[in-house]
Amino acid sequence: MVQTIFSQTSYEIPLTQKAVTFAKTHGPHTIETAWPVTQPKDLKPGEVLVRVVYTGVCHTDLHAWLGDWPLENKLPLVGGHEGSGYVAFIGPPLAGAEPSTLKVGDAVGIKWLADSCLHCEECNKGYESSCAKAQNSGFSIDGSFQQWAVSYAAHLTPLPAGFPLEAAAPILCAGVTVYKAIKEAALLSGEVVVIPGAGGGLGHLAVQYAKAMGYRVIAIDSGAEKEKLLASYGVTDFIDYMKGDVVKAVNDLTGGVGAHAAIVVASGAQAYEQALQYLRPHGALICVGMPPNGDIKANVFWTVVKSHRIIGSYVGNRQDAIEALDIAAAGKVHTTFTIEDLSALPSVFERMKALTLNGRIVLDCQ
Ligand SMILES: [Zn+2]
Ligand SMILES: [Zn+2]
Repeated sequence: MVQTIFSQTSYEIPLTQKAVTFAKTHGPHTIETAWPVTQPKDLKPGEVLVRVVYTGVCHTDLHAWLGDWPLENKLPLVGGHEGSGYVAFIGPPLAGAEPSTLKVGDAVGIKWLADSCLHCEECNKGYESSCAKAQNSGFSIDGSFQQWAVSYAAHLTPLPAGFPLEAAAPILCAGVTVYKAIKEAALLSGEVVVIPGAGGGLGHLAVQYAKAMGYRVIAIDSGAEKEKLLASYGVTDFIDYMKGDVVKAVNDLTGGVGAHAAIVVASGAQAYEQALQYLRPHGALICVGMPPNGDIKANVFWTVVKSHRIIGSYVGNRQDAIEALDIAAAGKVHTTFTIEDLSALPSVFERMKALTLNGRIVLDCQ
C-alpha cells in the first residue's frame, strides 16, 4: 500500500476516526468508523497526539484480547503497541518540566511502555518498564489500532531519519524486546548465543541483532522453511529440534563446552530445560518466551557450581528502543512482514491463534 500521510508542520485533526475496539475480553471486535479523536484542547500535560500511519500486531495484543494474563486492561480497549506515525499536536508540558523537544511532524514510535513516572528507583535506573506507575499502550491506555492516538512526550521513540514507518513498527516491540534480551546476557564479541525459536516473529529479529552485535549464533527451530529463512541472515549453525538431541547438537557445535548464552524466545517449556543443559559455566539463560503456566526447573547444585545466570527480560527502556531502531535503520536487521488494512485485525488474530501467520503483520492505519 502507498503511504499517503507524511510529515507536515500542522495537521487537520478530525473529530472522529477509524479504530478497532473490543468492549469485552474475548468479545467481538468492532471496526469503528466514527471513534472519537482526542482534540488538542483536551490533551493533558505531557500528552501528545500522534497520527498513526502503521501498526504492528504483536502476540501480546492477542493475549490482551483473550484475557490470558493475571492483569486487568482498560475496557473498551483500542489495542496495539507497535505504532509508527507523526507527531500531530503536542500538549502542554508537565508542571516544572522543560517543553518537549519533539516537533509537530516528527516521525515517532508508540511502544508497549507508554508512560512512567521517571522519578522512582526503577525509572532512575533505566528500568522504566518496571515502574509501578507504568502505562502500557493498547492495554492500560488505548493503543495504535486507530488513526489518532494519545501518547506521552517523554516516552515516544524518535524514529531514525528516512527509516520507513512500516519497517519501524515491528522493531518497536519485537525488535526492542530481543535486542534488550541479548544485551542482558552481557557477552563479548565472538561469544556463542543459542536462540531457540529462531525462525519465529521474535527469533528472526534476535538472530539478526545477535549477529549485528558480533556474536556467533546457533539457531534452533524446525523445518526446511525456517532453516532457509535463517540461512538468508547468514546463519550456518541450525539445529532442528524435531530431529535429534538438541543439547548434544549444541555441545558438538561448541567443541563440547556449550554456549555463553541462550535467548529463549520459543514459548515451549522444553527450550528452557535444554538451555540449562547446554550453557557453559557463567552462561546466561535469558527468558523471553512465555510457556503457558511455565516454570523453569533449574537444579540448584548445578546452577551454583556452574554459576549460571537466569534472567527475565521484559521489553526495553527508551534508550534500548533508540538503539534497536538505529541498528535496523543501518540495514543490519530486516523484518519479514506483510501489510494489511487496519480493518483486517480480527482476521489477523484468528490466523495468529491458528498459528498460520508467516512473519509479522503490519496494519495500514491511513
Ligand atoms: Zn509486543
Ligand atoms: Zn517510575
